[in-house]
Amino acid sequence: MDGTGAAEQGIAFDRVNKWYGQMHVLQDVTFSVAPGEKIVVCGPSGSGKSTMIRCINRLEEHQAGTIRVGGVEVNDQRRNIEQVRRRVGMVFQNFNLYPHLTILENCTLAQRWVRGTPRAEAEARAMRYLERVRIPDQARKYPGQLSGGQQQRVAIARSLCMEPEIMLFDEPTSALDPELVREVLDTMVSLAEEGMTMICVTHEMGFARQVADRVIFMDRGRIVESAAPEDFFSNPQEERSRLFLSQIL
Ligand code: ADP
Ligand code: MG
Repeated sequence: MDGTGAAEQGIAFDRVNKWYGQMHVLQDVTFSVAPGEKIVVCGPSGSGKSTMIRCINRLEEHQAGTIRVGGVEVNDQRRNIEQVRRRVGMVFQNFNLYPHLTILENCTLAQRWVRGTPRAEAEARAMRYLERVRIPDQARKYPGQLSGGQQQRVAIARSLCMEPEIMLFDEPTSALDPELVREVLDTMVSLAEEGMTMICVTHEMGFARQVADRVIFMDRGRIVESAAPEDFFSNPQEERSRLFLSQIL
């Protein structure tokens, strides 16, 4: 899809820059994601992947350039930030579930307090999404009683309860024991197959090959390479991409 479509409906970064003090952590980052597109972001630790995706829903502020989500500019205006957050769900490395709330309560909290959804309706929706991630039977338990893979699937269900148009994943499987990675990736694959717009920071290259329309490789705050997965893996254009791939594959 063309850049205009992405700017109106998807995500568009235009020369985005961010500094932490003296450190220039995002340098002229420009890319767009059209509705329904799936992007995998990879790159060495500290290259700015988390910072970049956290800027999308203003968990971090950028200092120069523009970010638009569904045509709404992400800036310091409360109204814009709220509009964007309504459209964008996010899943983190460490699940970030509330430990003192049940799985069901984790999935209804934001619906009830942010959306004002009545309890019965919020619970019905939560159960629908827990079924979708295949753990409705865990609804009355607490996060600590679940495996890491189950907790991450709850985090995905919780996010889906807000019915986002775009999902951001920040290394969702890197805190998991190896045998639990697959169940989370399977959930992400099915979400992708249903047409969700996704940006996934991950080093799961099998997943990238399976679902990504495009792989973005970052190094030192810059997008160094952006290519279809088959091209990126078989014929990376940049030395830094080649080095990175040789280290993780
Ligand atoms: P990645 O996700 O690719 O590992 P990050 O986006 O987390 O990279 O970090 C990019 C750079 O910004 C790193 O050098 C990191 O140390 C630095 N950084 C991240 N968060 C902060 C912060 N809150 N304050 C200062 N520096 C930060
Ligand atoms: Mg990170």
